Amino acid sequence: MNLTELARILRVAPYELKNLLPQMGFNVGQKAIKVDKMIAKKIIKNWPIFIAQIEKKREAEEALRKSQEAEEEKEAKKVEIGKFITVRDLASLADIPVNSLLKELMKNGVFVSINEKLDFDTAAIVGANLNLEVSLKTEKEEDVSVARDALSDKISKEKETDLISRAPIIVVMGHVDHGKTKLLDAIRSTNVVEGESGGITQHIGAYQVVRKEQPITFIDTPGHEAFTAMRSRGARVADIAILVVAADDGVKPQTIEAFRIIEASKIPFIVAINKIDKEDADINRVKQELSTRLNIIPEDWGGKTVCVPISALEKKGIEDVLDMVLLTSEMESENLKANPKAQAAGTVIESNMDKGAGPVVTVLIQNGTLRVGDQLCYDGIIYGKVKSLRNYKGEEIKIAGPSTPARILGLKMLPEVGDVLEVGEGEKIRIKKIVAKNKLEHQGVSTEIEDDSVKLNLIIKADFLGSAEAIEESLMKINTKKVKVKIIHKGLGNINEGDVKRAEDSGAQIIGFNVKTQAQVENLIREKNIKFSIFSIIYDLIEYVKVEMKNIYKPKMIRRDLGKLEVLAIFRTENDSQILGGKVIDGVIEEASMIEVWRGEDFIDKGKLSNLQEAKQNVRTVEKGNECGLKYEGKPLVQVGDVLSFYKEEEEDQSEL
Ligand code: GDP
Repeated sequence: MNLTELARILRVAPYELKNLLPQMGFNVGQKAIKVDKMIAKKIIKNWPIFIAQIEKKREAEEALRKSQEAEEEKEAKKVEIGKFITVRDLASLADIPVNSLLKELMKNGVFVSINEKLDFDTAAIVGANLNLEVSLKTEKEEDVSVARDALSDKISKEKETDLISRAPIIVVMGHVDHGKTKLLDAIRSTNVVEGESGGITQHIGAYQVVRKEQPITFIDTPGHEAFTAMRSRGARVADIAILVVAADDGVKPQTIEAFRIIEASKIPFIVAINKIDKEDADINRVKQELSTRLNIIPEDWGGKTVCVPISALEKKGIEDVLDMVLLTSEMESENLKANPKAQAAGTVIESNMDKGAGPVVTVLIQNGTLRVGDQLCYDGIIYGKVKSLRNYKGEEIKIAGPSTPARILGLKMLPEVGDVLEVGEGEKIRIKKIVAKNKLEHQGVSTEIEDDSVKLNLIIKADFLGSAEAIEESLMKINTKKVKVKIIHKGLGNINEGDVKRAEDSGAQIIGFNVKTQAQVENLIREKNIKFSIFSIIYDLIEYVKVEMKNIYKPKMIRRDLGKLEVLAIFRTENDSQILGGKVIDGVIEEASMIEVWRGEDFIDKGKLSNLQEAKQNVRTVEKGNECGLKYEGKPLVQVGDVLSFYKEEEEDQSEL
């Protein structure tokens, strides 16, 4: 019988039949066209049973699938977050209503608004109760560089013939006190080419040295913080990083944080093992820790990372560091190009408001050449014209080419560190003042625009930049019209003498987050009578500051006028009181009020109400139209016909602070 004929009888498609036959135990072959008559009969006979079997099997599979799905549903949903996340973002990531999350937080004693940030631990604990598996996102996966990418894009589109090599830009990072500043000083003092003005270099946030006739630019703003600020604003200004690790201290939390930032930025780096002059320096231990904890394998251990032992203090190994930087930049040379003829574009690495000079801004030119007179814009908005340019030696310059740090005077608005300023046409904005003010406030610069709020001065020390930033952000949110937090200083690491000095000078209190104080510093703090507290949970810190804000605010006394009474009789006069009778002519008078005595237009004196009676009974209030007797406490100057004005002084409602 033809297979197609059989298929027609069985009401299936021929190809389906071909697939099903082997399952029934009839191997007719994929190419078969005909089936033996006997076999066909057998197939037809057994078909209903077979179909029933298949159906059963399908049902069983379906049930299994469903139960697996249910199982999966029960399995916790996995979400990855950074070190901090707002309630709103966590809810949306976890795909649960914000209210459920808020409820769960409340159950755990955490009272926050939807825009407040939770730290990772809180998010993980609360998440677990909501069937969420919250894990920490490594910085590696974070997005890097938007603005700089746009800039790199632009540069890559320049004509090949217009491109020239530019100096590599270096950033120095690492744990606090491991010697970043000392290294930058050592490099500067031994390699900066003396300026005409006698070589006194100015701190403008970056400088240039020449090694083997090749220029190298160093960013010397406190590496870590500026770099992170730039990165979080999408700028990627450095080409090569130097990770400083102290030989006597090894890999520390900020070493790890710095390395993650370098990794995320995808820039090459070298390690400088510093303080090798110290007695307890142990280069091998540092290499061991680098390998095991960060998977940074030193070159001499068969890895790829150059590790240079140095002593920034004794200026040993500085040349080696520079040579290694040059070697690394040679390998990067393809990326170290710019077109000096283009309109200038550069990243802001320092930005301050100077009382006399206005915005003082350092940019690191990344493409083009900046000239005095150029108009600079950010994001299509005019920031002002370059009035004067100075280099890191403090010398006036007329132009600044690629990889040159230049201090600009003359801008009308203050950009932020990390902004990429570009020469060109832009839009003038009318709300300029407001934007400038917001920016200033954002940067903690006190503005001259009127603000009569009370300030709570704080010095914040935190373990990580991430926490310091999250704390600052949360604190700015609890500012009210009347009381504002003013962060005098924000830094990383343990509370030290410098912080105490700052606190003393500015009348600030010191707040630490996951940091410590040494006994001698703590003694100093006590001696100077400075308030200080250390927290390990941001929420507690914020709650504490909220209370402190209330404490420093002296509530205003608000006068509440009650009613007026005309004096009709004086019953008794003592040295310091009078018993009077009168009629309430306006409002309501209340016991325990203050009283003003008026005679016509003239104010006579002030006193207090100590007893109020209506029909010889003590009462609390007497309304307009009623007569009453009262005891006036004060100089006995009241006469018949005087009008007594009753009022109370109350503290303003502090719930609205
Ligand atoms: P930063 O916080 O990383 O910028 O560290 P600093 O450069 O401020 O250095 C911290 C401390 O370590 C300072 O007291 C420096 O004098 C000291 N220091 C830095 N480099 C060296 C070094 O090579 N040897 C020694 N013995 N001390 C150093």
